[in-house]
Amino acid sequence: MAVFNIALVKGDGIGPDIVNEAVAVLNRIGDLYGHSFKYNETVAGGSAIDKLGHPLPDETVEACLKADAVLLGAVGGPKWDNLPGDLRPEKALLGLRSALGLYANIRPAILYPALRSACPLKDSITSGGLDLVVVRELTGGLYYGERGRKQTPDMGEAAYDTMIYSEKEVERIGRTAFELARRRRKKLVSVDKANVLESSRLWREVMHRIKDDYPDVDYSDMLVDNAAMQLVRNPGQFDVIVTENTFGDIISDEASMITGSIGMLPSASLGGGTRGLYEPIHGSAPDIAGRDMANPIATILSAAMMLRLSFNLEKEADTIEQAVIAALNDGFRTADIAGGLPAVGTKDMGAAIRDRLH
Ligand code: NAD
Repeated sequence: MAVFNIALVKGDGIGPDIVNEAVAVLNRIGDLYGHSFKYNETVAGGSAIDKLGHPLPDETVEACLKADAVLLGAVGGPKWDNLPGDLRPEKALLGLRSALGLYANIRPAILYPALRSACPLKDSITSGGLDLVVVRELTGGLYYGERGRKQTPDMGEAAYDTMIYSEKEVERIGRTAFELARRRRKKLVSVDKANVLESSRLWREVMHRIKDDYPDVDYSDMLVDNAAMQLVRNPGQFDVIVTENTFGDIISDEASMITGSIGMLPSASLGGGTRGLYEPIHGSAPDIAGRDMANPIATILSAAMMLRLSFNLEKEADTIEQAVIAALNDGFRTADIAGGLPAVGTKDMGAAIRDRLH
């Protein structure tokens, strides 16, 4: 029996409720396929501040480094909003990403036919379906380059941020994206601004150099302004999009918005090896915490990504994704996706998905 070690960081707000549902789904998958998932529960965010005085205690980092993968709910909430920057719950996320060396953020955006009415685009645009993934570089570029302020002789104070990328940084995220495209519909678009930015020209050179190693993947370049437009004009044309940190921040939010439902979208952050951090894209939703109202699907789908990307359990991941689709097709909706119709709670949605795992 294969054993997989998972560090569980339930976090704050709705975090514990949604992670509990994901764990119940994983346990059912374990029974069905003969795997053993071993959990090491550890704290981060506000709950860690309350318990140990720090949002990311050393023991949490150690537990995550020892695990095969990390499954995280969400952190933060009004209770900790007035703490100084270094003690804010959100610091735990940045700290974990850097401690685990995670440089690739992978965000699928899928429009489920049962939820088509949640999409803000016209039916004529989404009739072909929408199933794409944004691979965003997470540890370089504008957000990490040199920044500062200086006085100019005649224009007052100036401020600057530097977008800097090295060949190796581009190559490693590029290969992550090509490998992912190979597991999907084998189409990769690299998004840059090579008509203006030198960092984008290097980005494009490196992508062209490595693309020959993936002849089975249909590769193309797209300028970021065009990509932003194409995402709302014809999102069905995309399979995998790879891009640098800032462009990825914007493009991935745009892509998730066109699916219309924050409670549905999972994410993965990966580094060089197979260990990854899996979490829903939404936050801790303090407004509905403890009320059995949260949609657990984003976290359950994050667990499916973990099975596929960290444990190489493709069939098991498919089984979870199919069970989610089946539950939606059978009419189960939490309040966030119910459009005013009667809704089920977090636990009942989890049970509906578990009942459809086979
Ligand atoms: P949020 O994503 O928590 O909530 C935004 C809105 O979406 C709320 O109305 C909420 O009820 C709803 N929502 C979110 N997830 C849902 C789900 N699974 N089911 C149903 N409805 C859901 O964003 P926010 O309100 O801006 O932030 C709340 C807290 O979460 C803040 O402390 C913020 O810093 C933190 N946060 C954490 C993460 C993370 O842990 N990765 C990400 C974003 C925000």
